[in-house]
Amino acid sequence: TKPTVIIIGRPNVGKSTLFNRLVGKRLALVDDQPGVTRDRRFGDAEIAGMEFQVVDTAGWEDDDPESLPGRMRKQTEVSLEGADAAMFVFDSRVGLTPLDEEIARWLRQQKVPVVLVANKAEGKQGDAGIYESFSLGFGEPVALSAEHGEGVADLFDHLWPII
Ligand code: GDP
Ligand code: MG
Repeated sequence: TKPTVIIIGRPNVGKSTLFNRLVGKRLALVDDQPGVTRDRRFGDAEIAGMEFQVVDTAGWEDDDPESLPGRMRKQTEVSLEGADAAMFVFDSRVGLTPLDEEIARWLRQQKVPVVLVANKAEGKQGDAGIYESFSLGFGEPVALSAEHGEGVADLFDHLWPII
């Protein structure tokens, strides 16, 4: 069976755009577990012949930081159990926010390998956020534009060794 890579990040960083970019027309098994379907989408992805299942999540899409340990986060944890790797997406134009830091802290406690993704990096507009993101401790980010497609193929080099 194919390895599974889960997309994680705060709202609006471009997780679903990246999912759609990776999956293209190859949609998508449905997870019909009650209460789970809404927050996760599965699709078959392929980069340069490397095939994997990708999972789009909405598990952190709750803008009240007080509720982070709640139901939605729980579902992200459940998703992570079956994952071979996580793509942790942030918005390189905005830079790191407190919620990004919170998710990063949580991810560092998980066993799954993490590929850091600096999205919205078309042009040079993400450069400051890209440098800032080294502080997260996940190594060099993959700078890309999910919307325009630039840099998406670079995910290959980061995912191939770990999935
Ligand atoms: P999610 O909430 O993390 O799933 O984010 P979405 O995929 O829904 O995207 C949030 C917003 O960011 C949308 O308006 C997208 O069009 C925009 N977006 C996503 N990827 C990019 C990108 O690479 N560059 C730019 N400029 N905007 C993007
Ligand atoms: Mg989304």
